[in-house]
Amino acid sequence: MKVFKFGGASVKDAESVRNMASIVRANMDTPLVVIISAMGKTTNALERLLAMTMAEEDTSEVLEEIREFHNQIIRDLGITGDEELEKDAAESFETLKNQLSKFSSSLGYDFIYDQTVSQGEILSTKIVAAYLNHVEIATHWLDARKVLKTDLTHRAAKVDWGASQSIIRSHVNRLIEDGIVLSQGFIGSNSEFDTTTLGREGSDFSAAIFATSVGAESVTIWKDVPGVLNADPKQFPDTTKYDQLPYKEAAEMTYYGASVIHPKTIKPLAQKDIPLYVKSFENPEASGTLINDCLVPNLKPAVIRKDKQTVISFKISDFSFINENHIQAIFEHINRQNLIINLMQNSAISFTICMDDNPEKREKLRLALMEDFLIYYNEGLELITVKNYNQDTIDELMKERRIIIEQRSRNNFQMVCKPSTGT
Ligand code: ASP
Ligand code: MG
Repeated sequence: MKVFKFGGASVKDAESVRNMASIVRANMDTPLVVIISAMGKTTNALERLLAMTMAEEDTSEVLEEIREFHNQIIRDLGITGDEELEKDAAESFETLKNQLSKFSSSLGYDFIYDQTVSQGEILSTKIVAAYLNHVEIATHWLDARKVLKTDLTHRAAKVDWGASQSIIRSHVNRLIEDGIVLSQGFIGSNSEFDTTTLGREGSDFSAAIFATSVGAESVTIWKDVPGVLNADPKQFPDTTKYDQLPYKEAAEMTYYGASVIHPKTIKPLAQKDIPLYVKSFENPEASGTLINDCLVPNLKPAVIRKDKQTVISFKISDFSFINENHIQAIFEHINRQNLIINLMQNSAISFTICMDDNPEKREKLRLALMEDFLIYYNEGLELITVKNYNQDTIDELMKERRIIIEQRSRNNFQMVCKPSTGT
């Protein structure tokens, strides 16, 4: 059995859906589980809808746009007459409206978020399943909310591995007998049977959860890039593709901010030794990148840029030196705010951290520690990490950048700098 994951860009219009169907058809020699995200930028549109509801603005136009976007795809795919699909789509929009109208209730933003945003995945997979069946690719639609179980957290639910694995396994094994199994990424449900989500871009992670549950022989993530590149092509003009990457390298790249794969995807696959392919849906015959348990000598440097960074420095003002007690006090408050440190550095009289921009939490941290330290901060910076660096790559990146912190270890180079307009 193989698991395929198609993201929003691979189902953004009818032509893309036809293309994904042809990829599925070409790979039906093995049983397939197919995981799909919301179509195009639907999740962003649903988030906008929520923001407008919260601001008590009229949402009817945006809601209509979302409906029309999906209807257009249904029309272009030639499946307009599918009564079941019509009913399902109407139900999705009914749920959306219903949930939005409950906004002012005590259910909480994160709860409503999961109930509404998940409709993007439901609509998308209903449409794709109807189309695949229409073109005679026997497809079973499986509701991920029935099989992927999580804790009670909303918007960043933790997977209940034990329950999910056995429920997924039994459902998939039963359905896969006579067709492909198609399910949603990103969504699941908790013990109260309320919908939960795994965090933005979580569909890759869903694919890994399904793959480990059924003991898949591989996972393929189909993307609009040729594979894993050594830098984001939207940020850097010259990139090269890795043919093969060790699990550890790929996992670390996602940790430093590479967005090609969701950070939680690699670990479960590595634990079960399931290879992960990242391939282009525009060029499905090309080899892409294989991520598995391997050794690759002389890996080309990977450049990962993370923007919207804040640097905060805590300085001692009384001529004493930074010691463990100071650091412990700082960490206690960092922990209390649930902050994640992307980089840190200390000198004789100061301790400095770099974190994602978050003015609200930064302010709480500042207020909590201002009696003991002089606190300086700088926002809107960028953090650049170079894995397996060489001097040429660093020299190139340092040109035209004002560097605030610089650090290097044997394999990694990192710098926090003012954003540059060039590369
Ligand atoms: N549709 C969700 C998102 O846009 C999940 C995903 O695409 O992986 O974040
Ligand atoms: Mg996506």
